[in-house]
Amino acid sequence: MFSRRRPAARTIRRAANWISEPDTQPHAAPPTYRMTCDLCGATSHTSVEFGTVHDWQRHHAPQHTQHHTYTQTITRPWHAWRQQDSCA
Ligand SMILES: [Zn+2]
Repeated sequence: MFSRRRPAARTIRRAANWISEPDTQPHAAPPTYRMTCDLCGATSHTSVEFGTVHDWQRHHAPQHTQHHTYTQTITRPWHAWRQQDSCA
C-alpha cells in the first residue's frame, strides 16, 4: 500500500514485489516546472528550466502587488517494474 505523503526524489516504494521510483534513465522525459499564482490563478509556461518559471513569478509579483502566494508544480516521470524473485 502506498502512502499519500509526498515521496522524496530517491524514495523507492515497494508493494508486494513491485518497485516504483522516479525514472532517471536517459530515455525518460525530463522533469518540468510550472508556477501558479494562488490569488488570480495565472500560470507560467511549463519548462524543464526552473529558472525561467521562477522569472515568470518574479515578473508577476511586482505587477500584482497583492499576489503573494504561488504554487509550484513539478511533473516528474516515474516507472514501476516487477522485481524478479531471487534464487537461493
Ligand atoms: Zn496573480
